Amino acid sequence: LMQLFRPLDMLGTVYRTIRQGLTDMDEMFRLLDTPAEVTDRPGAPPLAVGRGHVRFEDVHFGYEDGREILKGLTLDVPAGQTVAVVGPSGAGKSTLARLLFRFYDPQAGRITIDGQDITDVTQASLRAAIGIVPQDTVLFNDTLKYNIAYGRDEASEAEVVAATRGASLDRFVEALPDGFEARVGERGLKLSGGEKQRVAIARTLVKNPPILILDEATSALDSRTEEAILATLSAVSTGRTTITIAHRLSTVVDADRIVVLDDGRVAEEGSHAELLRRNGLYSEMWARQQAEREMAEAAE
Ligand code: ATP
Repeated sequence: LMQLFRPLDMLGTVYRTIRQGLTDMDEMFRLLDTPAEVTDRPGAPPLAVGRGHVRFEDVHFGYEDGREILKGLTLDVPAGQTVAVVGPSGAGKSTLARLLFRFYDPQAGRITIDGQDITDVTQASLRAAIGIVPQDTVLFNDTLKYNIAYGRDEASEAEVVAATRGASLDRFVEALPDGFEARVGERGLKLSGGEKQRVAIARTLVKNPPILILDEATSALDSRTEEAILATLSAVSTGRTTITIAHRLSTVVDADRIVVLDDGRVAEEGSHAELLRRNGLYSEMWARQQAEREMAEAAE
């Protein structure tokens, strides 16, 4: 009998692994057509999106009983502003993004967008309002155009071209013999990590959501590419409510507002300079990362 259950169990594992990675959550939902753990309330209205004011109010959440990951998280992201979330590994940074996208519901507290509790509105409308640029982008074995327009089938050619320019992918496309019709993915053109991320950025621009979640790539990009991508992302996030999940501090130095998550709560908040002056967790993490960088450089 166990034999029978094993494949099912494996599917579950694959699915959980994918979800944990926060890999293109939109896509995975479509691909797997998952019976969501989270369902729409009968008669739930769509989210009435304004400018995208996001609030986490005393949010408690754990994936499993008896192990709380977010322990009363309160975070206010005013419409159009950018907040960088940093914190030790396992602090719950990706978890808060998953909750905003409503992969799970909080056990207590609430998350609101423009004053509406996200559990009161349809998931489709919620997800349409949020764009995600994940760490790793899943590309389909299809044309570049399909991959960029993905999620908005009605996107016009002009919109795709504009998004490509916004993501600084235009030169890359122009250099391809087949241009937008070039096939990508496993059976086609292989894109570099940076190029893939630009496809994700272009895709987000086509979607044009008021709210953005940027899950920074941890290490895959060389520093020049990373700098260029960060500049593109910062242009894209202008005027949109943006939550940047940063796994390294070097990428948030210039952020106006950095929120330090520790053990499921906001431990500190401020600009880089303010946080260094506090001599708390942030300055400790900064010192450690600097030391690591120096060691790595010395080893080269
Ligand atoms: P990192 O910077 O290392 O990516 P993070 O701050 O993003 O860390 P999360 O991914 O939010 O951390 O994870 C927070 C905690 O929740 C971790 O202890 C992790 O093991 C646990 N966790 C994450 N996903 C799941 C899951 N699907 N089921 C059970 N526990 C999970």
